[in-house]
Amino acid sequence: MGKSVSKVREAKLELYRRKGKIHARAVAGRFNALRWAIVWLTQFVFYGGCWLTWESNGIARQAVLFDIAHEKFYLFGLVLWPQDALLLALALILAATALFLVTALAGRLFCGFACPQTVYTTIFTWIEAKVEGDHLDRLRLDQGPTSARKLMLKGAKHSLWLLIAAWTAITFVGYFTPIRELLPALAVGDTGPWEGFWLVFYGLFTYVQAGFAREAVCQHMCPYSRFQGVMFDRNTATVSYDIRRGEPRQARGGAGGGDCIDCGICVEVCPTGIDIRDGLQLGCINCGLCIDACDTVMTRVGKPIGLIRFASERELAGPASAARGGRPRLAVYGGLLLAVVALGAWSLGQRSLLQVDVLRDRGALLRETPAGRIENAYTLKLKNLDDAPREFVVEVSGVPGIELVGERAFAVAAGSVRPVSLTLSAPGDTALSGVRPITFRVAAAQDAAASVVEPSSFILP
Ligand code: SF4
Ligand code: SF4
Repeated sequence: MGKSVSKVREAKLELYRRKGKIHARAVAGRFNALRWAIVWLTQFVFYGGCWLTWESNGIARQAVLFDIAHEKFYLFGLVLWPQDALLLALALILAATALFLVTALAGRLFCGFACPQTVYTTIFTWIEAKVEGDHLDRLRLDQGPTSARKLMLKGAKHSLWLLIAAWTAITFVGYFTPIRELLPALAVGDTGPWEGFWLVFYGLFTYVQAGFAREAVCQHMCPYSRFQGVMFDRNTATVSYDIRRGEPRQARGGAGGGDCIDCGICVEVCPTGIDIRDGLQLGCINCGLCIDACDTVMTRVGKPIGLIRFASERELAGPASAARGGRPRLAVYGGLLLAVVALGAWSLGQRSLLQVDVLRDRGALLRETPAGRIENAYTLKLKNLDDAPREFVVEVSGVPGIELVGERAFAVAAGSVRPVSLTLSAPGDTALSGVRPITFRVAAAQDAAASVVEPSSFILP
């Protein structure tokens, strides 16, 4: 009898270990609750973010918008231009460093809770369970013959998946084309070619990745899983099975063995279909669902929870011989993180909302006026990076008696470039001659501190 129970259990586990489609058993617990909280939070931000509007200088527009056509990125009150690429690079370095730090502390935590692949797989699996039933119902349905019921259930599931994928694609494109313009255009089939391409591509991408590829992405496609080991050390806490406490496994009711009752539920709930009792594996995304499962089992059999838990290699080997803090790896990642944050804040503070390009008039090097003065002509490109119209005042210095001829204050619309033609005049009877260095100083009329100095040259006979 004992042997046949064990055979059935082993056969059932084999079903979950096999490399085909995984139908994970649902589980309740603190890590599952945390995972769902993060799903709600990330999707609330993603689906809702493109509907926020922001008013600045009397103009209301989408709060977060990558306006590629006009080379601007609106982030609430901040307008970033291509020349702010350094800030984007710093943001990416910041994200990567934070990921390294989290990985060194708690392994593949990002994968298990916040990675879009995990988040969308969780949503798609939830829909699948609502339509087709629990993990055993789904297994039976997949392995059963084709029937009207099967076709109806599969059809309903795929329709819902496609609906979510389509809305995800619309939301994604809505961060590049204002969503309030995109939806009416979509309704009459009047989207541009790029929008059409990304709507189809991102929709299909979501559908395939979350509906079909699922854990295969984490196991075989994700580069992060390959190099995460570099960030690990013996103090990194990952989801682990406490072999010293669990082994030798014994069927429930046995005596004298370890705490693992070999129920296999930790394998049944695993979204990547692995058995954590075999040790740390590439496929483990640290989602903690096996912890929830095992804690439930331990509680039921009256044993302390934590047979599977977040634990480091050092902790599992015996009493911790070193404290978690003070690890050089953490100090390096933490220091780098602070340095990038400081550099980003400094760059943002130093960022000038005015840019000036000075071009000499190539048509004529110089011109002598009837009054005996020498004139040179220039084109100044005044770029107002601010979200409000501004007036800029131009001054020049470098040659005795040099002055601007005509207008010296210029209004530039918000977020635009205005080319202006300027003539400089200097006395012709000066002792100087040839090419003389000069400087243009352009300052905002409302804020003299916001100024730019550009070198140029003035040609004398
Ligand atoms: S859930 Fe716990 S008791 Fe059951 S097989 Fe897994 S480790 Fe053993
Ligand atoms: S072994 Fe546990 S933590 Fe790892 S993926 Fe499976 S359920 Fe998640």
